[in-house]
Amino acid sequence: MPYPETTNLPFNATVVAHGFVPAPPDAADDEGPAVWAVLRGNALVVQEHDGTFALPEGERPPWLPADRETLAIGRWHGRPLRAARISTQDPLPTPFVAEPFNATGERLDDATLTLGGIAQQILHWERNSRFCSRCGSPQERLPASWGKRCAGCGAEHFPHIHPCAIVLVKRGDEFLLARKPEWAPGRYGLVAGFLDFGESLEECVRREVREETGLEISGIRYVGSQCWPFPSQLMAGFVAEYAGGEIRVDPTELEDARWFSAVAMPASIPPRRSIARWIIDRFAIGDRENP
Ligand SMILES: [Zn+2]
Repeated sequence: MPYPETTNLPFNATVVAHGFVPAPPDAADDEGPAVWAVLRGNALVVQEHDGTFALPEGERPPWLPADRETLAIGRWHGRPLRAARISTQDPLPTPFVAEPFNATGERLDDATLTLGGIAQQILHWERNSRFCSRCGSPQERLPASWGKRCAGCGAEHFPHIHPCAIVLVKRGDEFLLARKPEWAPGRYGLVAGFLDFGESLEECVRREVREETGLEISGIRYVGSQCWPFPSQLMAGFVAEYAGGEIRVDPTELEDARWFSAVAMPASIPPRRSIARWIIDRFAIGDRENP
């Protein structure tokens, strides 16, 4: 088990707790060399060196256009960590590459993924909080936080993090996996969805399974969570027991859903860095509850 607990999963703060000290944008940010978390579309800019990949370090990179705002988001091993976004059209000279967060090669280490995820979440909030959602006026920063205050109506706004529930449904030795039409061929994962108004997470799990697969479940248990900065979700993980019904897939949500087992797995399952895979490894394949 590469990740003993869900707190050890990439994108969760524990992964960088040994070196990262977060700070709001009005905290002191020494001029000069920094570590750079630069997003380019859905990819993170990293520097390749002997087959390994690391965030760029040093003075402001010359390939970061002069008109792009940079934002100090804390310190990484004592050095300022600055986040910025460039366009997918902006050229990147060797040895810099834009590595997709969802790359199947898993070339980025967990700390790099996590710092990039924090930068992505903050930049998403910054881009979406320039104007007040109530009256449309420009917003100002609140001191010592990522919150904003509207200069027009005075409304205060704080970062939006959207809760989602994700669940493994078990039936004896079998477990339910589903696939969305946009996923790579052969890839199956867990049923998941966004929390709705007036719902607990457990109610969300029950509704999503019912809506997407037609199945009823019981014994819904929370098993851990993961920050999912694509762009700003919290994935709350659950395990549940099959309680009735036949699979009827909602074609607007899923392409297929079926029962699998440890000896009859799909061609592809989610990458190790995801809570989906952590739940599958622990509760479907590994089944540590019944060793
Ligand atoms: Zn306003």
